[in-house]
Amino acid sequence: MKIKLLGTGTSQGVPVIGCQCEVCRSDNLKDKRLRTAAMIEWDQKRYVFDCGPDFRTQMLREQIDRIDGIFFTHEHADHTAGLDDIRPLYFKQARPVPIYALPRVIQDLQKRFDYIFTNENRYPGAPRVKIHQLEPHQKINLGDKTLEALPVLHGQLPILAYKIDNIAYITDAKFLPDTTIDVLTNQLDLLIINSLHQKQHQTHFNLKEALKIIKIINPKQAILTHISHHMGLYEEISRQLPARVKLGYDGMLLEI
Ligand SMILES: [Zn+2]
Ligand SMILES: [Zn+2]
Ligand SMILES: [Zn+2]
Repeated sequence: MKIKLLGTGTSQGVPVIGCQCEVCRSDNLKDKRLRTAAMIEWDQKRYVFDCGPDFRTQMLREQIDRIDGIFFTHEHADHTAGLDDIRPLYFKQARPVPIYALPRVIQDLQKRFDYIFTNENRYPGAPRVKIHQLEPHQKINLGDKTLEALPVLHGQLPILAYKIDNIAYITDAKFLPDTTIDVLTNQLDLLIINSLHQKQHQTHFNLKEALKIIKIINPKQAILTHISHHMGLYEEISRQLPARVKLGYDGMLLEI
């Protein structure tokens, strides 16, 4: 399996509009972060996790011409705002694009993108989606692999993380319930997990909390994502991390 980090930035992206900090002014491409999303591929299958405002840029950069579906973690704009940009993929594939999410997240998407979901007076240029509602701990088969939707808490908000084989993708989490920790502990070759910056935050793991969770779950390798400009420069922070933990960057390719 291949997993590609499409974006690794927090909700405003990095650089932040109008910010003059050293990270936002850095020339290192690894300090430039589109909004967080990832793509997983095996055999002929290709799925993306989230579809934020940078989806179009990410699909163009990776030269993607088809996807088999989108797994949403939650409804926040930095994870959903690009849904309109599935249009070229829908036209090319000539079938509704499967979307997978919690029922609450589907309802939110229906509000934000009513013209995509309506059957009345449809605009001919609107894309179509096929809705798949997910419940926490639901398992679904994708070809020869099983994906499990895992509950995590984003502050007070229950959202989903995903595990497929020995890879897990967690973003925007602040707390992992025991049931989720049990599923992941000593099971993973690769854990992708959010880590915002060093300071405390109400709804996201900071670096210290992410490292603590990584220690508990004990994956062979861990990659940090959903990173803010306050984290610091890629090169400096990378040097401080434990051996099996790496700071993610846009375009990072992981093969398991
Ligand atoms: Zn987010
Ligand atoms: Zn900045
Ligand atoms: Zn969020």
